[in-house]
Amino acid sequence: MDKEVKEILYNAENSLREQFRKTDETAEICTEKILKSMRNRRLSDAHFAETTGYGYNDIGRDTIEKIYADVFGAESALVRAQIISGTHALSTALFGNLRHGDELLYISGEPYDTLKGVIGITPTKNSLAEHGVTYRQAELLANGEFDREGIGALISEKTKVVGIQRSKGYSFRKSLFVSEIDEIVGYVKSIRKDIICMVDNCYGEFTDIIEPCADLVVGSLIKNAGGGLAPVGGYIAGNAECVANAADCLTAPGLGAEIGANMGVVKSFAQGLFVAPAVVAAALKGAMLTAKVFETLGYEVSPKPRENRADIVQAIKFGNRDALISFCKGIQEASPVDSFAEAEPAPMPGYVHDVIMAAGTFVSGASIELSADAPIREPYIAYVQGGLTFSHCKIGLASALCRLKKDGLYGRL
Ligand SMILES: *Cc1c(COP(=O)(O)O)cnc(C)c1O
Repeated sequence: MDKEVKEILYNAENSLREQFRKTDETAEICTEKILKSMRNRRLSDAHFAETTGYGYNDIGRDTIEKIYADVFGAESALVRAQIISGTHALSTALFGNLRHGDELLYISGEPYDTLKGVIGITPTKNSLAEHGVTYRQAELLANGEFDREGIGALISEKTKVVGIQRSKGYSFRKSLFVSEIDEIVGYVKSIRKDIICMVDNCYGEFTDIIEPCADLVVGSLIKNAGGGLAPVGGYIAGNAECVANAADCLTAPGLGAEIGANMGVVKSFAQGLFVAPAVVAAALKGAMLTAKVFETLGYEVSPKPRENRADIVQAIKFGNRDALISFCKGIQEASPVDSFAEAEPAPMPGYVHDVIMAAGTFVSGASIELSADAPIREPYIAYVQGGLTFSHCKIGLASALCRLKKDGLYGRL
């Protein structure tokens, strides 16, 4: 490894010992919680058997769903290979719980890009808007906190679901802590108890010792919760009736969660969940190291290296197109899969600007594995996340730094 790169990594890592220790502590507490549920539910070899067809009385599927409910402090959970992605899980939760004439209110500002089509913020065929569901949005305050007053003013008798996005996703805002989410859910419930609170939990799982307490908590299994081992899937945990409504939407009214063969994924779901806190800890440490290194080099980063984190995403503001691209190419070069591919910006459906995506992952598109992506637009921000092991995070970062050097773009430009 290049001497200068080695030194900057060594110094950065040394300065983060205390944060790393706290991160490991969180992973330990989460692992304990998961293990406790697996023991209580008597998880066994028999649950790992593959089922096919309708999947009636699927004990493996039912057991993993009970474990998820325990871990997320929920009444019930839907954990399925038939949930294709995070967007599909969120869409299923929303369509299952909203009816014509209802209103959806997002209180964490603009939702994640793909949700804009689901909701109909960008006009889309078959969106919630086309089904007669109206939409309103409360922005976060300038300091990144919830706007209580604004939220209170936007809640009406039509408000049926309140949406909260835990992770910043691909924006430069701060992510929301579970304590903040729980508090605002309490506030919404104090206005009207029957409002359904839904948390988009993508990228947030196991970054804290507790998970959000809401009627619907929704995420993807190819992000944090799957621990890098789940080959596909999503989850919806929460209030039994709300989850059942989502299940009716996923399968068919009257059938709900009763059907849906496990197709052999139960073992990878269970093992993935079991290692997820440790994998998330590795990714968090990688993100902290990345933040520290680029801050040292003079770039603006979000979050800052020692800031407490509510998700695994690290943003780096390059302010320079070539440096951004060079960084992503360096991450791709250090991927275990498709390392020989050269990452290039390209047009993507649903995006205005070209997007560059560096991801050489075992599970296609899995962003719990080390990956970096960026829309090619000012101020040229790269979003880095994931890493199955801290070693890989560090090697990937070193590779990106070496690539920047090779391209003559090392240091603030
Ligand atoms: C990734 C993500 C989604 C969408 O999940 P996909 O699996 O990409 O469809 C939604 N919300 C947030 C905050 C995310 O990070």
